[in-house]
Amino acid sequence: MKCRHCQADLTISMVDLGSAPPSNAYLTRQTLLVPEKYFPLRVLVCTKCWLVQTEDYAQADELFSSDYAYFSSTSTGWLAHAASYAEQMIQQLQLDQNSFVIEIASNDGYLLKNFVTSTIPCLGIEPTASTAMAAEKLGIPVLREFFGQQLGTKLAAMGKKADLMIGNNVYAHVPDINDFTRGLKTVLKSDGTITLEFPHLMRMIESTQFDTIYHEHFSYLSLYTVDCIFKAAGLRVWDVDELFTHGGSLRVYGCHSEDSRQTTTAVSTILAEEKRRGLQAVSTYQLFQSKADRIKDDLLIFLIEQKRLGKKVFAYGAAAKGNTLLNYAGIKPDLLPLVCDAAASKQGKFMPGSRIPILPPSVLVENPPDYLIILPWNIANEVMQQNAYLTEFGTKFVKAVPTLEIL
Ligand SMILES: [Zn+2]
Repeated sequence: MKCRHCQADLTISMVDLGSAPPSNAYLTRQTLLVPEKYFPLRVLVCTKCWLVQTEDYAQADELFSSDYAYFSSTSTGWLAHAASYAEQMIQQLQLDQNSFVIEIASNDGYLLKNFVTSTIPCLGIEPTASTAMAAEKLGIPVLREFFGQQLGTKLAAMGKKADLMIGNNVYAHVPDINDFTRGLKTVLKSDGTITLEFPHLMRMIESTQFDTIYHEHFSYLSLYTVDCIFKAAGLRVWDVDELFTHGGSLRVYGCHSEDSRQTTTAVSTILAEEKRRGLQAVSTYQLFQSKADRIKDDLLIFLIEQKRLGKKVFAYGAAAKGNTLLNYAGIKPDLLPLVCDAAASKQGKFMPGSRIPILPPSVLVENPPDYLIILPWNIANEVMQQNAYLTEFGTKFVKAVPTLEIL
């Protein structure tokens, strides 16, 4: 396989998680009776541009056939994050009624609604019909398409160039990252700004967040590599923020290569830290597999011990992360009889692969467990606050990544 960015041969494997069904392929009572499709889940490293990427395999298109949609507005922490970002950008870029903002993967309008409130013209791009409809109800125009150079050219020809192009948690999920980046270049006004948020590879390695790996998450990005991809498309990164979201993310600020904005020292600081932590050294990546195995083994030991002690263990949060962890560990309902989730769209379904049933959180009131494993560890505090009443019944909260921990 060749690198998706620079076309170099990929020879180094970072981690092999065996094979798994797509993380969003939730099962219903009917589809439980049908065999599931498993795809290899292996992550490779390019030693030329250091893009960390999932391995290609046949029939990748099938991953996107699911009608399941994640609604961003279900997380209160994420809504607050979006509102403060919008406020910051409106001030910093002095956006007003004459500006134009585009968000790619605008989801249910969780972010753009803040621009609508400030009467700043905006456009969402979102291929998933159910979330696009939710955004339109908030007064946000939505184009139901995938973004890339073709759509960028079409928008530019229609005079819809942007002062601000936003992509939150979409950059790592696009199969053709070069085409997507060229699209950004095409649709950006000459003095426009791009902001992209994505989980930071440096944090993923530091905390062995192997459960953030799933098929639809094609790229695991460092600032170094994003800078390479931007440069190849005639763009450059001029500023960067470190964020706490998703276990440690970066927000990069981009502009055209020829833009006169000075590059901030934050960029050189993070580039230097990435280098110091070995993000451009093969040995760093080769240590990852054994660390991931350790986490998997510890979780299995914990579950088997609790089963033998006659304790009740449930999980919270039927997210993609949980599916990767449960499937790699081979955990089935005998060790973990249920996962609860607040999203009505998942309730009554089953986790792909593990086939663990998903129930509403009200089940915890009726039947409090001894331990509740929080699968989306990045929102552990939010989950603990929402379910604080469980401690009265003696329930203990547990996190499996980066180490098994009773909270
Ligand atoms: Zn490469």
